[in-house]
Amino acid sequence: MSAVETVEVALADRSYAIRVGAGLIDRAGEELADLLAGRKAVVVADETVAGLHLPALVRGLTGVARSVDALTVPAGESAKSMDGLADLLDRMLALGIDRRTVVIALGGGVTGDLAGFAAAVALRGLDFVQIPTTLLAQVDSSVGGKTGVNTRHGKNLVGAFHQPRRVLIDTAVLDTLPRRELLAGYAEVVKYGAIGDLEFFQWLEANGRRLLDGDADARRHAIVVSCRAKAAVVAADERETAGGPRALLNFGHTFGHALEAMAGYDGSLLHGEGVAAGMVLAARLSARLGPCTGQDAERLAAHLSAVGLPTGLDQVDAGRHWTAEHLIGHMVKDKKALDGRIVFVLLERLGHAVVRGDVDRAAVSALLDRPRA
Ligand code: NAD
Ligand code: MG
Repeated sequence: MSAVETVEVALADRSYAIRVGAGLIDRAGEELADLLAGRKAVVVADETVAGLHLPALVRGLTGVARSVDALTVPAGESAKSMDGLADLLDRMLALGIDRRTVVIALGGGVTGDLAGFAAAVALRGLDFVQIPTTLLAQVDSSVGGKTGVNTRHGKNLVGAFHQPRRVLIDTAVLDTLPRRELLAGYAEVVKYGAIGDLEFFQWLEANGRRLLDGDADARRHAIVVSCRAKAAVVAADERETAGGPRALLNFGHTFGHALEAMAGYDGSLLHGEGVAAGMVLAARLSARLGPCTGQDAERLAAHLSAVGLPTGLDQVDAGRHWTAEHLIGHMVKDKKALDGRIVFVLLERLGHAVVRGDVDRAAVSALLDRPRA
């Protein structure tokens, strides 16, 4: 049997274990036996993931849970809507769920956020388990308890904090994930190194490609370190208080969200791609303001570029010549801006980030203004 590691998320009576290893879906019955014994399980998966990984999971859980039902939702961000939620809740209720039913989210961040929120509100709250199948979900969205849906007013504006009872991370499912999605998740892995762990960043410089090419040990290590980093922040600041440490996880996201908004959420720019370019912009802004050095900023850019992630505006705007004014306009509207003040996570140096709400807007404009080709 290949190695399995455990990361604990310490949240008093809401504490849970994240289990990380290759082949955990096949062994989900053993892994979840304590939680599922005598209870109904409802697995929620998107159609793509259901076609690839649902049969193995259902096989593993049959005979362990009292019953196992599966519900599928369309693949893609649009499933994470108020309508999608209402429809999912209706179908869960039609299955005859009870207060002891366990909801199991099998899929990427979309499925986890949607099924997690459904679990938070169905019968005023059901236990749920995350089985994340994208790298992004494995290192980020499945840990920390944020669940929710999008509305016409914006992304993730309706939701709840609802911690999972367990997270099962099967590194082998990444074999079926499209390379572009894998890389987008990798941007969030690099983020943990950049904001808090220079040694991990160095490890990624040496081993990142091995991980992306499928090495199970490299994947497990990177996911464990990432989850440990997120778990520590979540344990210290479960509900993301203003100025609290959870905000550090937004490194690259102030710029990244603006880039995503400019791209129009049409699939032309994945979240992780926006974050990769956004981290480089944030690092370069950090170097302009000091004490971070230009060398540190360019070292981050060099690694992201080496694996094939975008590192600048020119690579993400597809010739659309986004202006500083446009981008700053989006940043001011970001839900994390406080009274029109844009909050940036900057690097003091590679491996150490700080939250800054007092950045001079002229410095941001100067960074974003590019000579027209
Ligand atoms: P996703 O769930 O849409 O998955 C991306 C695509 O990959 C989908 O088409 C999916 O069908 C497919 N897929 C998933 N696993 C696969 C596999 N193993 N093999 C083949 N295809 C597979 O997107 P995502 O990037 O995982 O998540 C993005 C979502 O996560 C966003 O809605 C974002 O808001 C949310 N998010 C939430 C948190 C949080 O803390 N809750 C954090 C970050 C992001
Ligand atoms: Mg993110």
